[in-house]
Amino acid sequence: MTRYVFVTGGVTSSLGKGIIAASLAKLLQARGLQVTIQKFDPYINVDPGTLNPYEHGECYVTEDGAETDLDLGHYERFLNRPTSQANNVTTGRIYQTVINKEREGAYLGKTVQVIPHITDEIKRRITLLEKEDKYDIIITEIGGTVGDIESLPYLEAIRQFRRDVGKERCLVIHLTLIPYLKAAKELKTKPTQHSVKELLQAGIQPDILVCRTEYPLPNEIREKLALFCNVDEKSVIEAIDADTIYDVPLLMLKEKLDKTVLKKFNIKNTELPDLTHWKEFLGKLKNPTREVKIVLVGKYHELRDAYKSIYESFVHAGAENECHVVVLPIHSESIDADNVAQKLKGCHGVLVAPGFGERGIEGKLQAIQYVRENKIPFFGICLGMQCAVVEYANNVMGMKGAASTEVNIKTKYPVIDLMEDQKSQKIKGGTMRLGSYKCRITKGSLASKIYGKTEITERHRHRYEFNNQYLKNFQDKGLVTSGINPESGLVEIVEIKDHPFFIGVQFHPELKSTVESPQPIFTHFIKAALLFSQK
Ligand code: GLN
Repeated sequence: MTRYVFVTGGVTSSLGKGIIAASLAKLLQARGLQVTIQKFDPYINVDPGTLNPYEHGECYVTEDGAETDLDLGHYERFLNRPTSQANNVTTGRIYQTVINKEREGAYLGKTVQVIPHITDEIKRRITLLEKEDKYDIIITEIGGTVGDIESLPYLEAIRQFRRDVGKERCLVIHLTLIPYLKAAKELKTKPTQHSVKELLQAGIQPDILVCRTEYPLPNEIREKLALFCNVDEKSVIEAIDADTIYDVPLLMLKEKLDKTVLKKFNIKNTELPDLTHWKEFLGKLKNPTREVKIVLVGKYHELRDAYKSIYESFVHAGAENECHVVVLPIHSESIDADNVAQKLKGCHGVLVAPGFGERGIEGKLQAIQYVRENKIPFFGICLGMQCAVVEYANNVMGMKGAASTEVNIKTKYPVIDLMEDQKSQKIKGGTMRLGSYKCRITKGSLASKIYGKTEITERHRHRYEFNNQYLKNFQDKGLVTSGINPESGLVEIVEIKDHPFFIGVQFHPELKSTVESPQPIFTHFIKAALLFSQK
């Protein structure tokens, strides 16, 4: 019998619902339960794939090629299990399904309305994951903040769902903020009271309050919250600001969030959560013996979330190497031939980030030329790999003017180009090369040393590809194409010889790094940076 936990947010956005949901899931998983998490986003885009990274942070891609909210990245990093399209639903997708059904005549004769048609579709999606696998508990995170107009259909669906399946199988956790007023030297409960009232108006009494706070919650505040928000005192959970998101599962364990949930569900589980590996990871993360500085050359630096998975991969790879990784973001637009040496001074490795469009390309090429010539460890991801190919063509092979057709459609040497199937593509949403693809690795290459395997799979999100028309030219001139897709022959990995560490990958390895299995290119890149730092 599956149980359902809903996580809603109140008072402000950005309180970390995703981390709380993932932490609870981690604790339940560590107690031997089967759990999964899904995210319902109240915006009208069918998926976040068409959103600019500044709008909503990184677009996370699942194995099955769904473009999703970045919270799914947290779910995977915490649970070490892949998610899928079914784990992320938006209002756009809900409406699209209902409107398509209406056109097919599924509701013939009826007026199609938010209640019951939209709410029914939301309810259907709540249980969709059960059809794929068996779960003891499904956690559903509702994006946005209670009180938003666009969240209303979701709250109504939860109200109905609770009634349909029974209270004993449903729990609502409400995450709120307890602000501290400096002048009064007081923690304030009023915003939480209002936010719970808002939920009550939608017919939902929360069962558990998780309270984000900068200071520990004294007992009288817990009592007050319990009294005014109509929950028992044990269900007021303190979520104090943490040094790292990876501390949150242990903080929630201390606050007994998992126990409270199990008790309310009447699930007998006497096992203590097995968090041995998690604690080992935290131990290494917090006690680094060394430090490296990595420059991240990108163009969406105003919003750290735009490169979320890359930052987290560095956290995992750093801990694996017992090394503190300082990531220094540099705007590619600010780099030119005159200042590149200055900009990259003192760094031990350079990662050139994924991206779209021509803005900032020149700076990326300058950075790559510099690290190639000065033998500084280099790691290029997606656009970063494409730039490495373009730089090599221009500066090593003498193909002056070589470019990606994304940047220069008229280039004499289109070394990165669209494949035929992409050329005819008019629709923008969900039409890139997306999700998991195989890659065969050349023996004796750096990639083969990194992965220790001859065949791997990694996730993709791009339209442009290495142009195989030039494959032989590149190989003859020393560019090693060490990873090839066995079905399409597309180049997935490039390297150069006589360089301590120079690798560009067409895929997005950052999407598969988790606490339990750090991504091997990242861990080897940090190793190489460490070696470089000792020179
Ligand atoms: N803009 C490039 C492409 O579409 C790279 C995309 C990326 O870096 N994710 O192929």
